[in-house]
Amino acid sequence: MTIIHVALDIPIDSLFDYIAPDATQLDIGLYARVPFGKKFMIGIILAISDDAHVSHDKLKQADEILRNIPPIPPTLIELFEFCSCYYHYPIGRVIMNGVPTRLRSIKPVLQRSITSFLFRLTETGHAMALSSIPGRNKTRHYLLTHLKEVGAITSKEAKQLSQRAPKLLQEFLAQGWVEKVLEEPEFTLNINASPILQLTTEQITAINTIQAEIGVFNTWLLHGITGSGKTEVYLQITSMLLKQKRQVLILVPEINLTPRLEEIFRSRFPTTHLISLHSKLNPTERMNGWLQAQRGEASIVLGTRLAIFTPLPKLGLIIVDEEHDPSFKQQDGLRYSARDIAIFRAKQMNVPILLGSATPSLESYYNATTGRYRKILLRARAVKNASLPIIHYVNTRSVQLKEGLSEQLLVALERTLTQKQQSIVFINRRGYAPVLLCKSCTWLATCSRCSSRLVVHLTQKNLRCHYCGYTEQLPPACPQCGDQDLMPFGHGTQRIETALAKFFPHARILRVDRDNTRGKEAWQFILNAIHKQQVDILVGTQLLAKGHDFPNLSLVGVLNADTSLYSMDFRAEERLFAQLMQVAGRAGRAETAGEVLIQTEFPNHPLYLALKHHDYDAYAQILLKEREITHFPPYSYQALLNAEAPHIATAIEFLTMASKLVEPGKQIEIFDPVPAQMTRLKGLERAHLLVQSHSRKKLQLFLSKWYMKLCKIPHRKVRWTLDVDPSEF
Ligand code: ADP
Ligand code: ZN
Ligand code: ZN
Repeated sequence: MTIIHVALDIPIDSLFDYIAPDATQLDIGLYARVPFGKKFMIGIILAISDDAHVSHDKLKQADEILRNIPPIPPTLIELFEFCSCYYHYPIGRVIMNGVPTRLRSIKPVLQRSITSFLFRLTETGHAMALSSIPGRNKTRHYLLTHLKEVGAITSKEAKQLSQRAPKLLQEFLAQGWVEKVLEEPEFTLNINASPILQLTTEQITAINTIQAEIGVFNTWLLHGITGSGKTEVYLQITSMLLKQKRQVLILVPEINLTPRLEEIFRSRFPTTHLISLHSKLNPTERMNGWLQAQRGEASIVLGTRLAIFTPLPKLGLIIVDEEHDPSFKQQDGLRYSARDIAIFRAKQMNVPILLGSATPSLESYYNATTGRYRKILLRARAVKNASLPIIHYVNTRSVQLKEGLSEQLLVALERTLTQKQQSIVFINRRGYAPVLLCKSCTWLATCSRCSSRLVVHLTQKNLRCHYCGYTEQLPPACPQCGDQDLMPFGHGTQRIETALAKFFPHARILRVDRDNTRGKEAWQFILNAIHKQQVDILVGTQLLAKGHDFPNLSLVGVLNADTSLYSMDFRAEERLFAQLMQVAGRAGRAETAGEVLIQTEFPNHPLYLALKHHDYDAYAQILLKEREITHFPPYSYQALLNAEAPHIATAIEFLTMASKLVEPGKQIEIFDPVPAQMTRLKGLERAHLLVQSHSRKKLQLFLSKWYMKLCKIPHRKVRWTLDVDPSEF
């Protein structure tokens, strides 16, 4: 009897067996519809044999093997298996996390031609004189005239011109007057097409170094300061691989960074089929992108972390831009690091991978010093005469602030306005004020479901929890003592925006935070406004700091930077440093010199001293020393067991029990369970347990044994997850 072993989206780490008389070894990787409980599910066939895990009379028959959907290729299955093994997460869940929902929905609609086509006038078509058109067919004349005006149309548009037009298009096609091309998605961002630049010496060295080993696996750390022209290096290396008919995968941390990069790559490679994969696509678009990549039609795949699971039969290069960015790590479900998986994948396919950053993660930086990665430096800004901005600190202990803004910053903003240059004011808090306080009884508005304070949003006149989304009306009086004198305390983006509008009534001010950037259009609008100089002052959160290139920006002000200086999370300082370097890096990217003003209570903190000199290496050395002494990554490998329960005691009790399940052995360190920093979240209380080792291999061995035991603990009131290489505590 032929049995197929199927991976299903079920939280159990095993395959499910079904009878499938018509299955052959060639069916591995295919999608199958199988009964599960009372319903049907779509799974992936991972193995075929004539042996089942359960007795044959208990087996059910598979409903159908879906042979019209291209199978998941073996290398991608291998990648999924690696993820399942490394992150200790059920294989079915891993696969279903990566495969587009549309392909695994119970009725996958798979049309033959999914993308729409354009009929584009060829040179022959262009050259056709209207008078030479045979016959006296008016529609034919009309259609050709129309094509000469617009260049290309879809068959749907043609139909709107005339019922007969689609048929005529086929005729034109046969004559060679038009050609059928894939429709390019519309994009409206209009940055000037990037000309091929005269490369800087550093760029040339970088490109030559990589080119010398273009056909083999290497992890290149492209450590280039902000504005050093890393994008140009990506473009040139990409071009080499496109010439070899290979596919290039480019990962970016944020969906907001895709439009700009997409535009740059499209204008450099106008005839190359590029697809952009990110979370805002609808399920059909995502499936189409996936299939185009799988068929090898899409040569450039640009996307956020999920794009790492795209099938790419001709993969020749992976680029991970802003490799240090925490967004590459998924924080729920399969807690994978897209950057780390990208490295695995590059090695698996024996292709080079480029990790680019002005502020590499300490892990990557360390790997480059030990020789595991190869480091390439870009030390200078690419644009002639552009230099790194000058950084000043305003000691907020010794000056009076007006609405959170120092006199120095106000003066600098005024000067920048007069010079018709742009400024950014950064504050990492959205909303109006982070706290609502009663002056008489010191009551604070807090979230009943989380250990957090409710943030005042004045525009919508409500209070909101930024962790769980809970919203309520602004109370007219203190719920505790009835006093009506409630005070918004502290500053958020909305409040700073209001204050700036008061100080600079003639300035055009634009706020950019998560409240007003939902949707791709919103971002395009913002980026266009900035590039067309329709904005003078931007007020925003770190959303604005990442990777953008704003040539007219010359002043950056930073408020409330200190908040993460003395945090419990050992990565907080590394992140703050990277963030501030990135923020500062937005200024003075063209020929206007940039200036950065940071308001802080600790201007003499080593972090600020290194930042002043733009000295990433100096600070990285300090942090590495600390990590070495405390045995933290990159000097050790970690895993975190998270538990959540209605009461913290239950979670701690579970973790204590879990810590005794497996004898850890000499090289594994198990810490005591502790409550999470955000102890209460969405009505549940959370704690975690850290496991650490100097050896990744030893840690993995331990985790495998441990995970099996954890899975066998009967379900109680505790929900647990295992996070390998955790990035947040
Ligand atoms: P980053 O390294 O921060 O990603 P970008 O790639 O965005 O830097 O480049 C910064 C700016 O420098 C861009 O405006 C880009 O067009 C410009 N640039 C890059 N290379 C060169 C070059 N060789 N000559 C002149 N300008 C360049
Ligand atoms: Zn009160
Ligand atoms: Zn909440």
